[in-house]
Amino acid sequence: MSRAGLRFWSAVLAFAVFMIDVLTPLEGAVAVLYVIAILLAARTNRRNDIIVAATGCIVLTITAYLLSHDLEAIASPTLRALVSLAAIGITTLLVLQNHAATTRLAAQARLLNLSHDMIFVRDRGGVITFWNKTAEQTYGWSADEALGQLADRLLRTSYPDRREAIEASLLDTGRWEGRVEQRTKAGAVLTVDARWALQHDHLGTPVGVLETHTDVTDRVAAHSALVQSEQRYRRMFDASRIGVVEEDWSGLRTALDSLQTEGADLRDHLARNPDFVSHARHLARITDVNPAMQKMAGANGSAAFIENVDKLLGENDRSFLDALVAFAEGQRFHEGETQLVRLDGRKVPVLFTITFPPTPDGDHSVLVFVVDITERKQAQDALLAAQAELAHAARVATLGELSASIAHEVNQPLAAIVTSGEAGLRWLRRDVPDLKEVATTIGHVVAQGRRASEIVTRIRTFLKKASPQQDMLQIGEVIEEATALVARELAKDDVALVVETQPGLPPVRGDRIQLQQVLVNLLVNAGQAMSGRPGSRTITLRAGIVDSETLAITVQDSGPGIHPDDLPRLFDPFFTTKDGGMGMGLAICRTTVEAHGGRLSVASTPGSGATFHLTLPYSQEHALP
Ligand code: ADP
Repeated sequence: MSRAGLRFWSAVLAFAVFMIDVLTPLEGAVAVLYVIAILLAARTNRRNDIIVAATGCIVLTITAYLLSHDLEAIASPTLRALVSLAAIGITTLLVLQNHAATTRLAAQARLLNLSHDMIFVRDRGGVITFWNKTAEQTYGWSADEALGQLADRLLRTSYPDRREAIEASLLDTGRWEGRVEQRTKAGAVLTVDARWALQHDHLGTPVGVLETHTDVTDRVAAHSALVQSEQRYRRMFDASRIGVVEEDWSGLRTALDSLQTEGADLRDHLARNPDFVSHARHLARITDVNPAMQKMAGANGSAAFIENVDKLLGENDRSFLDALVAFAEGQRFHEGETQLVRLDGRKVPVLFTITFPPTPDGDHSVLVFVVDITERKQAQDALLAAQAELAHAARVATLGELSASIAHEVNQPLAAIVTSGEAGLRWLRRDVPDLKEVATTIGHVVAQGRRASEIVTRIRTFLKKASPQQDMLQIGEVIEEATALVARELAKDDVALVVETQPGLPPVRGDRIQLQQVLVNLLVNAGQAMSGRPGSRTITLRAGIVDSETLAITVQDSGPGIHPDDLPRLFDPFFTTKDGGMGMGLAICRTTVEAHGGRLSVASTPGSGATFHLTLPYSQEHALP
């Protein structure tokens, strides 16, 4: 009923009681019924309404008494009227007191409405008697809908423990805290941190429970996502066949920050200060290693593992310096290759990737992923050995083809020695030996002997079975030696060899014999292609600068050229068009040139010769500006 309605009915009731009091012989006793009018007015919850109603009722009681009785008459009707007035007065006082208490409670309830938590009160039977604004917003039920409902049933609360046990603990200690799950009106499941407090009346009897609930659904979801991610990482860490090392480089960062390079490039500075680098190796603290890494390092458990990376890296390691530079430059990743020293001292070749933490502050963990490449290295070594064997075999084969001309070449100085020796003998056998002439002829013998020896040395060197070298080579010298090996063979076939070497070519880094073999192969092939053909037979070998980093050598002949169908297969192993050819020469040439960082290609117009084009990088120390 609205306030106006309550006021109206209160007034109507008071008037009705007044009329009955005046018109009936009930003699004032009926005036007690004014109490009902006051109680009705009290329901408007307004202090003024209560006072107005009470005053009105008192006035009406006195008026009715005066109208019905003489002023002087002092009898029982007077007493009854007084009792009625007392009843009205007491009721009014009680109602006013009650109103004050209700107002206080309402103020407190308004405070509860300001809370960000869902707060409600339930009585001992579990029926909701108060429901704050946040509860309305979060759970979805308005206060009108929630009041009078059973809290557990409305919210379909599920508890971490038996409900009876929780209630018993609440009665015992007066409080309970725990995490529960509840459902909203829309059916969403909320995870909620609940704090309950037991309310008592003035006699200490429990009357209700104040439940304060904080919605932690998002927080719990975020936390569980974090936990899941951590578990995933752990699984990968533990089960990975790749070695993983977790390191803390925060000490290293401090050391790098306080490093005075005096304007020098960091890499140069570190290279000149090996003490700092070895100190830095101690600062790269190992915090965890996965089982794969423990196995790789020959350790039994991570507790027995090394504290820092120093012991893991060999004395000659250069990879750590590179990693330091990458770290100082703020790079996110660094890759490299090194040898890992196992706890038993054995060395394991490994490839590694380091990931650095994204920000200098916060996360310090540096992750190093390590792969054991022993098998790959062995396979690579076996491949290199096989290639070297093959190249050697090809050299032997080439020299076999050249044997006639080599024999001739060696024979020439031998013949000259014999001739000079005979001439010397003749000068000696004269009646008066001419010692001067003898000396001259012996000089010839020695010179020719040297020549023969040089030829033999050259051939032996070419046939040498040595592992590839990385020497600084003047390409002009390599060309000279190669052409010397084939000169006679070409001359025999009437092939003119023209060599044009640009002066002042920077040196290249590589293996002298291997590069000689490439040139010998290309020259022999060119000579063989032209052999027995009519017309002029010329090979032009040019060496010159391409750009600041590369030099080029071309071997051009005036032979028949290469059939277009053969071009794509020319460098394939075992491709040959010659009777008794092995087809390995060009394949080896290309592998050799590529191993030197260069390229080998061919261009040919059938009928007008072939041109082999090879490029080689200069050795880095001598790259042109
Ligand atoms: P082989 O000399 O044993 O045949 P190579 O690998 O050296 O093996 O050469 C493969 C083939 O390439 C030769 O058989 C020949 O057909 C062709 N070839 C190589 N050089 C020339 C050239 N200068 N002119 C024409 N053909 C050539």
